[in-house]
This record gives sequence, structure tokens and C-alpha cells, in this order.
Amino acid sequence: MRAIDRVLGSDGFEPLVRIEAPEADPKLFELAHPRSHVDLIHDAVPLEGFARVDADTAISPKSWEAVLRATGAAVAGVDAVFSGEADNVFASVRPPGHHAEKATAMGFCLINSVAVAARHAQRHHDAERVAIVDFDVHHGNGTQDIFYEDETVLFASSHQMPLFPGTGELGETGAGNIFNAPLSDGDGGEVFKAAWRERILPAVDRFGPDLIIISAGFDAHRLDPLAGINLEAEDFDWVTGELMDLASRHCGNRIVSVLEGGYDLTGLATSVAAHVNRLMTG
Ligand SMILES: [Zn+2]
Repeated sequence: MRAIDRVLGSDGFEPLVRIEAPEADPKLFELAHPRSHVDLIHDAVPLEGFARVDADTAISPKSWEAVLRATGAAVAGVDAVFSGEADNVFASVRPPGHHAEKATAMGFCLINSVAVAARHAQRHHDAERVAIVDFDVHHGNGTQDIFYEDETVLFASSHQMPLFPGTGELGETGAGNIFNAPLSDGDGGEVFKAAWRERILPAVDRFGPDLIIISAGFDAHRLDPLAGINLEAEDFDWVTGELMDLASRHCGNRIVSVLEGGYDLTGLATSVAAHVNRLMTG
């Protein structure tokens, strides 16, 4: 987040409106998770040191506040695009959320912020259809799990396979609302663009969403140490522009983009800069 703050503090980003992420009411977590899961996360927070929910996923004393603010930012972003305060919002938050299933925290994720934000848009802003698109290099298994049989939410993801968490096959289609586009180790921008052009963007276009939420992970960047996809910052710029075209056509430009993965600080910073610059300039 410091790397992102630094790059968004550079020339060209002066017009960006910055708002500190508010803490969400934890009741909102129950839009996407059973109460038992929310209690389990809350009760796992240690007074000092680290607790673990699995080998990858640690919880520290500040984790509860972090998930309140991560989800709070996504929900505040939804409120801002529906009130007309902003066309689009980027939530620079930790921890990520897209691996958090209904009742399972995993893959650094505790609470699924984009899922809570989508449900909040439906409950409080009369959004009928929400599209969640995910270009993180890992499959958004948690988001897919939460909306697997829900025709009012489209979930579409490009991701490397095989790779953690192991889901995301073409054949996982839910109620016809799930669109997976697996990529192979070594694939670059041309294959990524083809997957979005041929599979994901037409699906979102047909769906006609009232809001587009992006699970914006930048770990498909070529420098990222956790995966083998070779995207450049320009590819994130491209996909952002394509999603803005769809948002202009269907939903009054409303896009809420929420940070997911991204583990090389140079790749992360340059990619976020390209993504946010496109969101600002259209
Ligand atoms: Zn990831």
C-alpha cells in the first residue's frame, strides 16, 4: 500500500479525490457470509503476534480493523457511484478478499469485500444485476462460491491454471452466470486480451449490469513472483478502458475497483498507476 500511495502521489494524480476508508458495520459481512464465519474471524484475532486460519493466511491484532476498512472502502465506493459523487472508485485496501468463500477464509483473504459490496448495491441502491470481473492472476474462488447459483450476479475471471486455488475451469458455469477464462503459464498480453475480448467482455455486455465491480489484482504482471503470466502495465490500462466502455453503455459509468493481489512492488505500482489513470481520464 505504501508503494501504491507513492505512485499515486506522483505527477498527474493531483486531481484524484482521496477519502480514508471508513470502517464497515460488521453486520454488512453477513450479506456474503454466515454469522458463524464472521464470528470465527473476529474471535481468531490475537492480542499480539499472529494467528493462522491456514498455512497462507495469518491474522494479526489489526486484522479486524483492516477487514472493516477494506470492506468499508468497497461499500463506500458503491455508495459514491450510486449517489453520483463519483463515476468510479478505486479502493486501495488490504487484505484482499476474492478467495474468501461463504464460510472459508483462505489465500490471504478473510472477508470477501467485493461480494459484500455487490450485495450492498442490490439491497441499498436497487441494483438488479451486478457484474464482478476479476483479472487477478488467481481464480476468485470465493466470489464464485458466494454467487454460484445467483443469476443476478455475473462473475467472470481470467487466471492462470494450474495455480492456487485450483478452481476456475471453463466448465464451472454456475447458473449460467459464471465465466472462467483460464490462462497458461507463460501467456502474455495477446492471450489475455483475446480471453477478455472473446469470453468475458461479451458476457458482461449481454448481462447488462447496473454496476461493474472489479477484483483488481495485479499479480498477472510479468514481474510478479507468485505466478507466470506476463502482462505489462499497458494491458491493465487496456482492460480498464474496455470495462469503462461497457460501464458507459450499461450503467452510467459506475465502476468500483477493489485491490486484490499484487506482490512485486514495481509491477504493482506501475499497474495501479495505469489502471487509476485510465479510470480518471476515460
Ligand atoms: Zn492473486
